[in-house]
Amino acid sequence: MVHAIQHFINGRLVPGTGTRTASVFNPATGEQTGAVALANAADVRAAVDAAQAAAPGWAETTPLRRARILNGFLRLLEERIDDLAAVITAEHGKVLSDAKGEVQRGMEVVEFATGAPHILKSEFTETVGTGVDSHAVRQPLGVVAGITPFNFPAMVPMWMFPVALACGNTFILKPSERDPSAALLLAAWLKEAGLPDGVFNVVQGDKDAVDALLDAPAVQAVSFVGSTPIARYIYQTATANGKRCQALGGAKNHMIILPDADLDQAVDALMGAAYGSAGERCMAVSVAVPVGQDTADALISRLTPKIRALKVGPGTDPESEMGPLVTAPHRDKVHGYIDRGVADGATLVVDGRGLRLQGYENGYFLGPTLFDNVTTDMTIYQEEIFGPVLSVARANTYAEAVDWINAHPYGNGTAIFTRDGDAARDFAHRIQAGMVGINVPIPVPMAFHSFGGWKDSLFGDHHMHGPEGVRFYTRLKTITTRWPTGIRAGAEFAMPTMA
Ligand code: NAD
Repeated sequence: MVHAIQHFINGRLVPGTGTRTASVFNPATGEQTGAVALANAADVRAAVDAAQAAAPGWAETTPLRRARILNGFLRLLEERIDDLAAVITAEHGKVLSDAKGEVQRGMEVVEFATGAPHILKSEFTETVGTGVDSHAVRQPLGVVAGITPFNFPAMVPMWMFPVALACGNTFILKPSERDPSAALLLAAWLKEAGLPDGVFNVVQGDKDAVDALLDAPAVQAVSFVGSTPIARYIYQTATANGKRCQALGGAKNHMIILPDADLDQAVDALMGAAYGSAGERCMAVSVAVPVGQDTADALISRLTPKIRALKVGPGTDPESEMGPLVTAPHRDKVHGYIDRGVADGATLVVDGRGLRLQGYENGYFLGPTLFDNVTTDMTIYQEEIFGPVLSVARANTYAEAVDWINAHPYGNGTAIFTRDGDAARDFAHRIQAGMVGINVPIPVPMAFHSFGGWKDSLFGDHHMHGPEGVRFYTRLKTITTRWPTGIRAGAEFAMPTMA
């Protein structure tokens, strides 16, 4: 059964007027399960009009009332987390426990946003001049848009809209056309929680929908998460059109293992960070950098049996530790990177190609793969693979490992495993990346801090959620006030002067 996946505009599901659709698959079986409508410019205009019409009323809704609606939404998410996780697994492929984890991380941003009255409190300075006070307010921008990737169909939208809504904006979400259904559940539950129609809209689509959003004069700000070439394009186009933009791109996250590290801890951390969600995470560790040949040999010998024992299977099987890749073309692309690594001379220690699972022969599975002796001139080192492929690049010294990370064009996350506080401190201080873990492999900040990378991993000035998210979704206004002496001074009969 192929079901039609629609838009959500002005509080209801609508088929739109566009005639194009994209196929949505169950990655574990390879079966087509849905056909998602691809918005045309008129569909996007309908969403923008709805969001624009709802904007003044929502901006005037008190932060406390906005927070109460978000609280109701949070309760629905808590009650129905299993339903949302099942929808994510069915279209993305990740294992159910991981899908629930993504919803949980998204809910933390909703929790942050329920503090709207507090996070919108402003600064006040008494007596900036004699009898003069100054205060600052942060006001909503109006209509804002979010364009999101396939790999976190619930969490990444939830990095954006809870904060945008808490700040009094109306929102248009353009989810990935590869796993578009989670966004519709979020929209339905926001409505159920009491969100007025038009405040949150979903337009399904591809480049046409994105370009129509970038062209719409009413859209004041665009948040984007996806690959670096598209992030660069979105940032350049949105800002050229006078919009505020934050565009988060791809990653190549390195993890340094110093000789004094707890190797068991490092190996366990690497297993989850490299192969969790089949490596389709922007914070996945894709390069392990052991320092010294002995550290590297010990790491490889402990990693290899664990990788071979990793259970690959459909996301719905509680035994599975790693699911399939999202689509057949993406599986083939990752397969091509493994071929390329072999051709370039890296040592293929564990080969995930050719994995076939009984009963799931048409699924997009690829086994976990390990390369050793990867060098910085190789394509598999330079490019983001976004699959279950871990490269081990052996460094001779700590300084060499740091230089590699700092020279890499991506700068999303990075980590160091060591027992040495001085090395850890030096690393945190000098490393050119937006998020740093000390004995923490995937240092994703909590919702009340902000998420974002450096270099080609982020275009724009603001990271997502936390205080940076509030700044991104609001405009600062500073008010300076002086009151003339009035009734308190009693009546005056002489001509008033400013002296
Ligand atoms: P993608 O760039 O292909 O797509 C992202 C969004 O852009 C989708 O909504 C898609 O429809 C739209 N899009 C695609 N091509 C477009 C075009 N030519 N013009 C306009 N819009 C277009 O990314 P993806 O494959 O869905 O997601 C994986 C990528 O996202 C990886 O590179 C990953 O590192 C990155 N990512 C980054 C972060 C981060 O925080 N930095 C988080 C998650 C994912």
